[in-house]
Amino acid sequence: MINYKKNEFKKTFLVILMAVIFVAGGTVIYWWQVSHRLEQDVHVILDAAGKEVAWNVNRVLSTQQRILTTLAVSLKDDPVLENMQALASYLNDQNGHSSLALTGYQFPDGKTVFSNGKQQNFFLTTQMVDFIKENNYVIVYQNTPSLADEQKNLLLATTVWNKKQPWGIVFALQPIASYQEALSHLVLTDVSLSLVIDPQGNVIVSYPAASESNMFKVINSSIPHKHFPKEELFRNIKQGKKGIFSYFFDGKQRFLSYYPIGYNGWYAVAILPAASVAKDIKSMVVMSLVLCLAIISALGLLLMFILHMERKNEKALYQLGFVDSLTGNDNLNAFRLKFPSRIAAFKAQQKSVAMVLINLNHFKALNTMYGFEQGDQILVQITTILKQYVEPNELCCRSGADRFLLLMHCPSREELASRLELLISRLEKSCQIGQEPLLLAITCGIYLVEDEIPFYIMFDRAKLALDTAKQHAGSRYAFYDTEYLQKIVTEKRIESSMETALEEHQFKVYFQPKYSFQTGDLVGAEALVRWIDPVKGMIRPDWFIPVFEDNGFILKLDHYIWQKVISFLKNRQDRGLCTVPVGVNFSRLHLNDPQFIESIATAAQDAGVDSKWLEVELTESVVFGNAERMQQALDGLHAKGFSVAMDDFGAGYSSLNVLKNLDFDCVKLDKEFLARGETNPRMRQVISGLIKMIKKLGSKIVAEGVETKEQAAFLRSIGCDIAQGFLYSRPLPLEEFEKKLDEKNPQN
Ligand code: C2E
Ligand code: CA
Ligand code: CA
Repeated sequence: MINYKKNEFKKTFLVILMAVIFVAGGTVIYWWQVSHRLEQDVHVILDAAGKEVAWNVNRVLSTQQRILTTLAVSLKDDPVLENMQALASYLNDQNGHSSLALTGYQFPDGKTVFSNGKQQNFFLTTQMVDFIKENNYVIVYQNTPSLADEQKNLLLATTVWNKKQPWGIVFALQPIASYQEALSHLVLTDVSLSLVIDPQGNVIVSYPAASESNMFKVINSSIPHKHFPKEELFRNIKQGKKGIFSYFFDGKQRFLSYYPIGYNGWYAVAILPAASVAKDIKSMVVMSLVLCLAIISALGLLLMFILHMERKNEKALYQLGFVDSLTGNDNLNAFRLKFPSRIAAFKAQQKSVAMVLINLNHFKALNTMYGFEQGDQILVQITTILKQYVEPNELCCRSGADRFLLLMHCPSREELASRLELLISRLEKSCQIGQEPLLLAITCGIYLVEDEIPFYIMFDRAKLALDTAKQHAGSRYAFYDTEYLQKIVTEKRIESSMETALEEHQFKVYFQPKYSFQTGDLVGAEALVRWIDPVKGMIRPDWFIPVFEDNGFILKLDHYIWQKVISFLKNRQDRGLCTVPVGVNFSRLHLNDPQFIESIATAAQDAGVDSKWLEVELTESVVFGNAERMQQALDGLHAKGFSVAMDDFGAGYSSLNVLKNLDFDCVKLDKEFLARGETNPRMRQVISGLIKMIKKLGSKIVAEGVETKEQAAFLRSIGCDIAQGFLYSRPLPLEEFEKKLDEKNPQN
């Protein structure tokens, strides 16, 4: 929706990505560690299994070897060897004390005596006898069906080296089954098959009983695990090394641990199903998976929580920053944020746009009259109408208390104006207070978006345009113009330099002479201020007087001029030169000052200038504002001896009725008034009638702005007393005016 939101999303996404990478990386490292450990564990378990089987078997065999060798030592040159029967019972006795099952003794002549009393010739072949004599102690796996109950036996044999008889062989026959016990009692109960094999893989003994007689055959017909090549197994066994091996048999993985038992190159073998070895692995895997899942889900939950909170905060922030709390619509921030993209969209379609600032006039008064709640209601109603009114790609918001800002398509000034007229009249009529329709007054300022300038400047320009519209009573909208801007700038400049200008005496008094229509004599003057700026030159009062009236500086300036005029009069007086009464303009603002009259009177008195030389000019608009107050002022001024002129009569809403109740000494006809009358015969009659009546009231009449001889002739003909205008003289600087005065009375 908005750029910054996109950025937020990107940020969150990055955080999630990083967290996932972190967790994944952690998991991989952990997994690697665990699997490495597990692999080691498997080796340890398998090694232990093989070793245990080997040790068990070795323990039994070595015990039996010890017993048999001890027996051999005890038989050596024993007289029992001379009596067959005694020998048999001696052997039988010995068996009773040991784990040996059946023992026997074979003489060099082949005669063999068994512990069970049986006798036989050449139980051991001469070949076997030689082999035993050669190796001292042997263990041989063999079938001896004729003798033993068990078909499969281990023959344990050793040589008895006598002195009387050269040698004999003592031997034991141990049933294979008796070794199964050594294979069955294992601490490692997971061993599924334990066996003893010879280096060719032949099974010597197994627990439980193996179905196959050769283990290598089984291995050859199985699929070895890819990490355990068969060749290695065979090689190791050949070299008497221990090892582990894994293969698949019947689709199931098995582990096999082989360990030399130390007899005949035989091997103890422990076979474990992968499931049992991997039991730990499995639980580890499950545990680590659970752990990972737990971490990931905790992280996920955390992230979701963070996202949720963020979204919530964002929403709250958005509400706070971008939503107008009263109307629920966009506020200025939101408008501003959306503004560039909308402008770009219009631009792309080569459409012009305008920024329109709508103002509800006198909204404060409405608030006071109807209460704030009703006031708010009005604002909500306006918002609703505006939202319905703007096109989908246009914008609207409340930009201030009673102001609304719009971005509108502007095909041309005229089209926009007519669209706005419609909107304004709709807005003005469609609001209600309760059931009562409420008539609003609305003014708009329009800025046509042309240049690429910052938003706030555009907004400012719309504001300036609105100010213009407000200043021109009756106009409901105004466009922003550079001319207007110029004016504002000038005003600002004036304001910033006026104080210095006064201190530096840049304000000068000019004097415009007044002449008698009857005699043509110089009979008076009007003091008019001029601002002589050291850089810009002369600035006319029309430029700065309205500004000074706005900011109150006029009060100071008028007193300054008054003072200058007094100085002038005093100077003339001191030099014994002639003079004329001088009119000084005073702004209506002075009438609010209770000290006004006293202070101007004091100034004159202090200088010792007679008040008869001073005339106060007040404009007509003051008079109509408050006739009673005006009369008080007139009385006050008269009491101090000043004469008073009504300035600009006929410029506004002049009324003879009011004039007749006020005793002005002089009435100055406005120059505009004259300009209108001169050409129109009916107006001429009105003017001459008016002048007659004013004269009847006892006031002198001054005609201002007399520019032509025709005007002068007409004014003289209708009985005007005094003329002031360019025809006679322009306002003059002091020195020039003094020259005129001196000409009037050359002898002085
Ligand atoms: P205003 O009091 O009506 O002064 C007469 C204005 O008419 C003067 O303009 C004068 O130069 C001008 N004028 C005189 N004869 C003619 C003519 O034949 N044709 C035309 N077109 N104009 C003529 P200015 O001096 O520019 O003053 C303008 C206004 O500024 C004055 O109008 C007065 O209202 C105000 N003003 C001037 N000086 C002061 C001042 O010291 N204090 C105050 N409060 N206002 C002043
Ligand atoms: Ca005047
Ligand atoms: Ca005037």
